[in-house]
Amino acid sequence: MSKGKVYLVGAGPGDPKLMTVYGLECIQKADVIIYDRLVNQDLLQYAKNEAQLIYAGKEPGKHDNIQEQIHQWLVEKALQGKMVVRLKGGDPFVFGRGGEEAEVLVKHGIPFEVIPGITAGIAAAAYAGIPVTYRHLATSFTIVTGHVRSKHGADSLNWRALADGSDTIAFYMGIGNLPYICQQLIQHGKDPETKVAIIEWGTTMRQRTVVGTLQNIAEKAEGAGISHPAIILVGEVVKLRETIQWFPELEGEIVDTK
Ligand code: SAH
Repeated sequence: MSKGKVYLVGAGPGDPKLMTVYGLECIQKADVIIYDRLVNQDLLQYAKNEAQLIYAGKEPGKHDNIQEQIHQWLVEKALQGKMVVRLKGGDPFVFGRGGEEAEVLVKHGIPFEVIPGITAGIAAAAYAGIPVTYRHLATSFTIVTGHVRSKHGADSLNWRALADGSDTIAFYMGIGNLPYICQQLIQHGKDPETKVAIIEWGTTMRQRTVVGTLQNIAEKAEGAGISHPAIILVGEVVKLRETIQWFPELEGEIVDTK
């Protein structure tokens, strides 16, 4: 039997309409779809009736065996000649372990394609009315994991470089570490008054945004009960939200005047 093919597809940040046309075509044709927890499950309605849908959800902090299992499914289904879609939240190559999955496919000689998606750090910011770059205000943008502390308390981020070298920073997977992240940035020279936005469930009907500074955002986010998934966006661009905010959020921060 001839080998199938695997498509590593970015499902976009949450709103199902934010996925690519090519990604959607792949969902429509797939024999097998292996999808993650943060993928909007409304997208699965486009699958063929006979398609096999496999949930590969990873709870934060409980990743241990599932990744191995996903590799096995990818290889096994493709070797059966199937067209396999590996559907991942946001972009498959941004903190999605998509790179590792591609390596496994290479190792087994399985053909594959990578279909990028809109990553949460940019999309959630946009839906909160925050451009991640802006002329004169922010000329660089960095994507960073906020899941930084190892069991032994040390982390591998270059905090000094982050504090000095990037105008806008998006921390992914960082909400559990928010006080630590703010403290590190301040300790490494970032102005404590630097603006921060936390965007929870960005681009979905559940989107909420809390705005503060490095000094007070942890308390504000806790007060608002913000939790996973959320992007921590640090930088002066956050203040543009005052003028550009356009998406009606859960907490009704925008009053619809129509
Ligand atoms: N590949 C994904 C990121 C996976 S890591 C992408 O490119 O977007 C998971 C992290 O992404 C979460 O911890 C959270 O920080 C962020 N995230 C994913 N979806 C989100 C959403 N709708 N709103 C805010 N943050 C989100």
